[in-house]
Amino acid sequence: MFIDGCFWHGCPEHYVPSKSNRSYWAPKIEANASRDAETTRALSDAGWTVLRYWSHMPAEEVAASVESHVLAHAHELTR
Ligand SMILES: [Zn+2]
Repeated sequence: MFIDGCFWHGCPEHYVPSKSNRSYWAPKIEANASRDAETTRALSDAGWTVLRYWSHMPAEEVAASVESHVLAHAHELTR
C-alpha cells in the first residue's frame, strides 16, 4: 500500500499548481502521477492488491479501509 503526498502525487483535492513556477512543476507532478498509475498496474498484474491513499486522509479511515480489504481477501491469503 502507498500513502501518496498530496503535492508530489497531484492529489485532485490538494494539488494546486504553483503559479510562479507552473512550467517547472507541472511536468514533474504529471510524471509522478503517471508513474504511480504504471506502478499500480504492474503490481496488480503481478497479483498484488494495490491500496493507495492520499496523505490528507484521516489515519482511521485509511486503517479501516485497509482492514476491510484484508478481511475481504483473507481467504486468498490462507489458501
Ligand atoms: Zn490531498
